[in-house]
Amino acid sequence: MFMKSRFAAATNDPPFVATISQVSPGSPADKAGVKAGWELLRVNGELIPDILAYRRELERGVVKIEVRDPQQKEERQFTVEWEDPGLEFSEVIFDGLRLCANKCDFCYVHQMPKGMRKSLYVMDDDFRTSFLYGSFVTLTNLTEADIERIVDENLSPLYVSVHTANESLRHEMMKWWRLKVKDEKATKIRDMLARLKSIDLYTQMVLLPGRNDGEHLSETLDYLASQEHVLAVACVPVGLTEHRVNLPEIQPYTQEQARDVLRRVSSFQQRMLKERGSRFVFASDEFYLLAAEPLPTAEAYEGFPMLENGVGMIRDFLAEGLPADLPLSLPKPKRVLLATGKLFAPVLKQAVAPLEQIEGLELEVRALKNRTFGEVTTVAGLLAGRDFLTQIKPGEADLLLLSPNSFKYGTDLLLDGCTLGDLRRELKMSVEIGGTNLAELAQTILTGATVHHLPQFGYSTQAIKETQISD
Ligand code: SF4
Repeated sequence: MFMKSRFAAATNDPPFVATISQVSPGSPADKAGVKAGWELLRVNGELIPDILAYRRELERGVVKIEVRDPQQKEERQFTVEWEDPGLEFSEVIFDGLRLCANKCDFCYVHQMPKGMRKSLYVMDDDFRTSFLYGSFVTLTNLTEADIERIVDENLSPLYVSVHTANESLRHEMMKWWRLKVKDEKATKIRDMLARLKSIDLYTQMVLLPGRNDGEHLSETLDYLASQEHVLAVACVPVGLTEHRVNLPEIQPYTQEQARDVLRRVSSFQQRMLKERGSRFVFASDEFYLLAAEPLPTAEAYEGFPMLENGVGMIRDFLAEGLPADLPLSLPKPKRVLLATGKLFAPVLKQAVAPLEQIEGLELEVRALKNRTFGEVTTVAGLLAGRDFLTQIKPGEADLLLLSPNSFKYGTDLLLDGCTLGDLRRELKMSVEIGGTNLAELAQTILTGATVHHLPQFGYSTQAIKETQISD
């Protein structure tokens, strides 16, 4: 192994660069004098659009890396042979996130109130973040070259928003922009799934009452089950807010409609268990809560492959249960408030009920109204800072615990940019993220010592994609 470094004259500016966030001490990049904040220009003379392409170039063994100090406008290049150059990047997509080519009737971005984090308004639909992070993509913006790349580089698994396999209904629901679609063929979901037959696919159907559920749902499940490379389907109810301006009217699911979805899912699961040895289709937690039906067992989620899509999150949260050795009393009285969305509050209240017997512990589960998105929005993940600030009085508890789902992935940032620190200051109490499961939550309630739970997911997969978008 060897490394050589030399200065090069400034050449033509590339259309995009990758910002280097870290240089490993003692690495070839470090020895070449590269610093954090510099930019990667090319590898082996090629522009590098994303981290996947970067890794692919490194696999060639002998690699020439061109970098630049953006302050000094000085370019430098060094070569590595079968060695990690020691570079980390601030993002994984270097040439800009691919944006969607659709105008779905049910798009959450179109029903977002003003004043949320900037990144929440980005309508990204990038197959690379789908492969890297499991975010769902529609495939309608792909080019022939993209499809070839997915297949050649085996970017598997991918996560695909199918919604329905009925082509005309899919078009009617998703309304793609002709000018934004680069290749008309990409809008045909059955053709696209056939082109991607070597790629494992996790799929989702966002269900709209009376549109793509009922017989349409059953037919789509039939079709998807006939595709060997489709591993699973998640059924998720449409998310609605009160900020739907100039958008088609969509009603939320009623209990009876949710029950019909669950009946179809359950009977298809029974069939698939015999045919595939897997349930194949899974309904999101919201459907069980809307239908007031019991959640499936943990085992029935088969390893929770689509947890981030709200499929099995509650069962996963409850799975470990409360610690067996609950104390009879606390050394010092304490008021603890658990604030969550209206949908989850009854489940949480029941789960923590045994703690109410502990002497000295005053425990309240409060179902907050979503004043930011409107009362039609009932999930905890869409509560914003202002919802906590307007429905909790300063000093009314000693400790306020919030759901990790309300926060941006890996941060303590709420949807409107409010932070844990802001809440602590305004509400004059200790405020923490309660824990990713019931056992952790109980520990936090009892000891006050928080295991620091920065969320690993939140606001469905949007939160994960957001890691690529700065606010
Ligand atoms: S693909 Fe996603 S971001 Fe694009 S319009 Fe549809 S729901 Fe909105």
